[in-house]
Amino acid sequence: ALMKAKRGGILDCEEYDETMRHYIMTEQSIVNDMMEALQRGEFKVYLQPKYDAATERVVGAEALVRWIHPVRGEISPAEFIPVFEHNGFILKLDQFVWEETCRLLRKWINEDRNPPPVSVNVSRVDFYSTQLVNIIEKLVQKYHLPRELLELEITESAYTDNPQQIVRVVKELQQRGYKILMDDFGSGYSSLNMLKALPVDVLKLDLKFLDDKNETGRGGNILNSVVRMAKWMHLPVVVEGVETRQQVDFLRTIGCDYIQGYYFSRPIPVEDYEHLLAQRTFV
Ligand code: C2E
Ligand code: CA
Ligand code: CA
Ligand code: CA
Repeated sequence: ALMKAKRGGILDCEEYDETMRHYIMTEQSIVNDMMEALQRGEFKVYLQPKYDAATERVVGAEALVRWIHPVRGEISPAEFIPVFEHNGFILKLDQFVWEETCRLLRKWINEDRNPPPVSVNVSRVDFYSTQLVNIIEKLVQKYHLPRELLELEITESAYTDNPQQIVRVVKELQQRGYKILMDDFGSGYSSLNMLKALPVDVLKLDLKFLDDKNETGRGGNILNSVVRMAKWMHLPVVVEGVETRQQVDFLRTIGCDYIQGYYFSRPIPVEDYEHLLAQRTFV
């Protein structure tokens, strides 16, 4: 019934019994509260820079949402994203993040900052919308952006949920010129199958999915093999969750292309990222 609720829109209550109807109405009132929070400006986009592993220069960023609650303060996305995926608000919130990102890219282009790409997250639940491609296309047109500036991160497990739909939408987005990043690669059970069926452009690996982060241990070996496999497939690799100098050095040695993590920078407010862009030197 939940899946139905997602697809039909949460207010299509006719087909549900009393309990379910009550449940849906409760969820709807939470969604209404969220819409108000969104309009009050409680959600903010932060940017976490990505670095070239060889030159250690900024090559882009990932947009990550923050909820600055008037009473509770900053709430972690790990707490609210699953709730919003459940009640359907995620598509609205993601659209807000995508639009904010497009607006920033356009602003930086106008300021002659020559901005590198910014990736945004696309929730598994967003794929239940038949309008997904349209929504993204409209934004990119509204802000007159080259499509390669707005990169799309799709988490690996979204594919497991809904393989046919994901493959269809991803191919369509790629044909239109968007870059697709496979987020959390290797965290699921069918990573290799997925890679066979889904034509992604970049692999993102998170160190947190390796139990053993010791370079010489199994974790290091797995990383090394995945990076080599990616190279055979001509896929660039971003490693995230990188916190130490040793990890950076190891990743560079095994040929990882890009690094994202607290070692270089946490997700930061837009103004701080703009300072980073201003400090960039070009060679
Ligand atoms: P993710 O997409 O895998 O994003 C990476 C997460 O790792 C971010 O957590 C980031 O702050 C964190 N991180 C980055 N470097 C390090 C590091 O060196 N060490 C550690 N321990 N963590 C690091 P964050 O911002 O809390 O977001 C958590 C998850 O929430 C994201 O994981 C993503 O799945 C989801 N999320 C965040 N923003 C959005 C959004 O706008 N839309 C959607 N649909 N999901 C979002
Ligand atoms: Ca991500
Ligand atoms: Ca990730
Ligand atoms: Ca994730």
